[in-house]
Amino acid sequence: MKKKQDLIIIGAGISGLYAATLLQEKYNIIILEARERLGGRILTQKGHDLGPSWIWPHQKNILSLIDDLGLEIFSQYTHGQALYDTPSLLQRFDAPPPAPSFRVTGGLIQIINALETKLEKETIHLNQEVLSITEEDSSIYVKTPDQTYKTDYVLSTLAPRLAAEHISYEPALEAKIKKEMLNTPTWMGHTAKCVIEFKNSFWKDQGLSGFVYSQVGPLAEIHDASTNDKAALFGFVQAQASTDNIIEDVKEQMKRLFGSNAEEIIHIYFTDWREERFSSNALDYKGLSAHPEYSLNLSHFNNKLLFIGTETAFTDGGYLEGALTSAKEVVDKLSPV
Ligand SMILES: Cc1cc2nc3c(=O)[nH]c(=O)nc-3n(C[C@H](O)[C@H](O)[C@H](O)COP(=O)(O)OP(=O)(O)OC[C@H]3O[C@@H](n4cnc5c(N)ncnc54)[C@H](O)[C@@H]3O)c2cc1C
Repeated sequence: MKKKQDLIIIGAGISGLYAATLLQEKYNIIILEARERLGGRILTQKGHDLGPSWIWPHQKNILSLIDDLGLEIFSQYTHGQALYDTPSLLQRFDAPPPAPSFRVTGGLIQIINALETKLEKETIHLNQEVLSITEEDSSIYVKTPDQTYKTDYVLSTLAPRLAAEHISYEPALEAKIKKEMLNTPTWMGHTAKCVIEFKNSFWKDQGLSGFVYSQVGPLAEIHDASTNDKAALFGFVQAQASTDNIIEDVKEQMKRLFGSNAEEIIHIYFTDWREERFSSNALDYKGLSAHPEYSLNLSHFNNKLLFIGTETAFTDGGYLEGALTSAKEVVDKLSPV
């Protein structure tokens, strides 16, 4: 039988783990992940999603993966009125019905955990930040601070900006390609997200959905984030809001919006994705006015280095669905062995 070729996947977010499950029959795979955890932009703490939370009905790949992995989904809670919050007025209003969306029971980390169980234990190497990739004598060398790995193929799952900025390539990336990568915004790289867990979901008793549009902040957009056993709201922090005292400021905002019921806070979780150097960079800080059109088709070293990840997807780029479609596309591109 022909010997399997080696493939290094950089990044253990959803696209990297999913690609590994698709390709493990054909290649000897090693996944190098810079962080000490799996999931990348998927981050669930005590059942609360601090990264992505929603999946939409048209996103067939992620829905079918969830089904294949034996996981459950439930509908985002949207019943009741919304709140509109300005410096001079706080009022209830009937928000137009949002597009239906789903969440995963137990949080999106369930997908990551389930994908991990499909891989050999020794596949994933944590705390391995890739610094350089070199092609020499038809092999590829991938360097981390404490090791150099030799391989036949490399699949980078990094957001293109990070892949262009943090990793050096020998021979270098074409200037045009590098520019294109640096011009590709990292989806949600400008965001900070807060989840507030309460003793009970009092807003539901008040006839409110939990959706708030606030010009006052610090949370600009708030939604219900309750799980099957915990009452919670989540909010995206206003781009211009200071996060120096974010926990106290969010407590104040909750009290102002919902009254004394909102004082019964169990815990506030907070992740500032702008500070996560493996998920965004300074170029992402200023935010976006609209969802970018993603359509990157990148490769280097004669197709021995390929780039996947949600920002390279042709459909649903930026979303979890895009992370999966980008991984699926590359399976066809990798030379058959
Ligand atoms: C706050 C927030 C809310 C979001 N909401 C939604 C939502 O509701 N629905 C939705 O569909 N999507 C949402 N998204 C987007 C979604 O999270 C992404 O589409 C998806 O997680 C991207 O997966 P990925 O594998 O392409 O990239 P990533 O998850 O970014 O994976 C890349 C991996 O590479 C690693 N890495 C980086 N640099 C290196 C290096 N030098 N060496 C080795 N490893 C490295 C990273 O640590 C990471 O694990 C949201 C994102 C955020 C941050």
